[in-house]
Amino acid sequence: MTARADGSVPGRPSPHIRLTSHPVTAVHAVNWGAATAAERGPVIATTSNRLHRNAIGTHSGSYSVYRALAVAAGALSREHRADLTNTAPTDVVGPYAQWGDPQAIVSLDPWGAAVADVFATELADGQDIRPTIAVTKAHVLLPEIIEAVQKGRLRPDGRVLVDSGAAVVTKAAIEPVWHLPGVAARFGCSESDLRRVLFEETGGMYPELVTRGDLEVFLPPIGGQTVYIFGDPHKLADPAVELTARVHDECNGSDVFGSDICTCRPYLTHAIEECIAGAQRGGVGLVAYSRKEGRALGEVTKFLVYNARKRQVGGDTADQYFARTECVAGVQDMRFQELMPDVLHWLGITKIHRLVSMSNMKYDAITGSGIEVGERVNLPDELIPADARVEIDAKTAAGYFTPGPIPDADQLRSTVGRDLR
Ligand SMILES: [Zn+2]
Repeated sequence: MTARADGSVPGRPSPHIRLTSHPVTAVHAVNWGAATAAERGPVIATTSNRLHRNAIGTHSGSYSVYRALAVAAGALSREHRADLTNTAPTDVVGPYAQWGDPQAIVSLDPWGAAVADVFATELADGQDIRPTIAVTKAHVLLPEIIEAVQKGRLRPDGRVLVDSGAAVVTKAAIEPVWHLPGVAARFGCSESDLRRVLFEETGGMYPELVTRGDLEVFLPPIGGQTVYIFGDPHKLADPAVELTARVHDECNGSDVFGSDICTCRPYLTHAIEECIAGAQRGGVGLVAYSRKEGRALGEVTKFLVYNARKRQVGGDTADQYFARTECVAGVQDMRFQELMPDVLHWLGITKIHRLVSMSNMKYDAITGSGIEVGERVNLPDELIPADARVEIDAKTAAGYFTPGPIPDADQLRSTVGRDLR
């Protein structure tokens, strides 16, 4: 490869560090919450042409670091442009009224799935605009759903549920795109405080947070969301159509590996069963899955807490459930459901008829964002693993929804989980 005059080699990292903390006039300012894509303008967070950038951070959430690794290792040209041929969404979502409200959606780009369409001119003009949302179709095959078919609770209809027991879904992957003024408003802090703390607590990872007040959009290096839709996605926005929905936070141990200390997978698969049944009744089902492992504390903290719970004097009791998390993490929970309803507004949802969640924090965030919630569907007792009784008793005593009795202090002391064996 031939070096350029400045010593850089095309496709390889530049030998010079290019600081991005000095303002340059972006090709497009992002007019967050504008009613149309043309007025809003594209979010440009790619690195191929730094003069085009109008956002802080880059694409793919935490995977942006792997992209950097690929460039550093010489496996990926930093000038690579995505070929978006045939990548268009299988189902067009929106636009909905909420997309034009700068307060309704602050943590994702509502136009993120449509960039190849709505910003076709800018793309043809050489601007490197990447989708932050992708929508596709799949069949999902879960042993719990096959069992529901075998036991007669669900019946394949060839539409929502095929004969193999696989559910037909539309699914969307969503990267985080934060509008910093809106995120600050959600958390009741000033934008400057939010920017400064994000800068400091990531070890100074994004200097533009504090030097570039003109850049209001930040693509944070965190996990995103995936939504699974059962039935016609367009029905989600129709409040007259029965919507069964669960908002689920990632729990790798239970969701994927079947760990029995919590209720995550049983509740997830129960929600999927409810979503399928609802879609078969003519409604629509939705599971919105957020990458917020271990209450967004991460799996290392989560496993430390498990040990602390199970080794404490008196064993793993429900009355100490939250205290042990707080001892290790400093807080009980970092999921902060304030941003969660954004995905529901992206889908145009105004009413959830059946919310498959017992969490008061999720319920409060959803209803507080203006979405009406009808019935709340609890996790049936028979689906709670024995060792997870500690968690569910602690949570219902702390305000989680339950149609049954709320455990008192004596019961919380007597709900004891397995020890470390
Ligand atoms: Zn779990």
